[in-house]
Amino acid sequence: MPVLRFDNVSKQYAGGHVALSGVSFAVDAGEMLFVTGHSGAGKSTLLKLIQLAERPSRGTVLFAERNLAKVRGSRIAAHRRNIGVVYQNHQLLMDRSVGENVALPLVLRGMKRAETGKRVRSILDRLGLAARERALPSQLSAGEQQRVGIARAVIAEPALLIADEPTGNLDPALSSEIMALFAALPERGTSVLVASHDLGLVKRMRKRVLVLEQGQLTDDIAPEDLVDE
Ligand code: ADP
Repeated sequence: MPVLRFDNVSKQYAGGHVALSGVSFAVDAGEMLFVTGHSGAGKSTLLKLIQLAERPSRGTVLFAERNLAKVRGSRIAAHRRNIGVVYQNHQLLMDRSVGENVALPLVLRGMKRAETGKRVRSILDRLGLAARERALPSQLSAGEQQRVGIARAVIAEPALLIADEPTGNLDPALSSEIMALFAALPERGTSVLVASHDLGLVKRMRKRVLVLEQGQLTDDIAPEDLVDE
């Protein structure tokens, strides 16, 4: 069953700018894929439609078979809890410890303290951040900060993990490391959708790649069809 489906989706912003045009694709549960394209191609818009930060002008976005056009009002927050988000600038709370940042999605869900602490330590351990639980984000390197952002995004085991240019501020070696975490970290069953303009980096990951050009989905490349440059 697809966790996400775009059916002929177009998005035209006020002012007439067409950001997406007739985009259709489906993502299976547990699948990882990239969406790539030049700046302005529509990658962020595509991710915003999934989070209901924007609405399509035409077409349908389905999440777990539910038409998102019908998700309104107080149900938007509930929908967003199914989606883990990793930001380019990690968006950590700088006055809270690493552990508190990562715990946040569980605290918001009302999970008990003991269970929350256990889950936080487990995820920090898997990300090589066990010794950093009490540190403040400002005491971490850029790569560590981004790993904390990933830990926070996956700790509540969302159905879908999305990231918009998660390596935008990292050097090439760190970028590869962070991309590898996206492939390795989520629980089985979590789908992962990563937007990146870095086609070379994306191709090296050997995952499915959607290519956007000026709002149109011009290619949907299976891993076995990726060729080295
Ligand atoms: P990408 O993430 O691939 O850089 P975007 O989705 O941000 O692409 O943008 C796609 C197009 O839509 C661009 O031409 C951009 O200028 C335009 N756009 C994005 N957001 C808005 C907005 N809020 N209002 C008007 N135009 C927008």
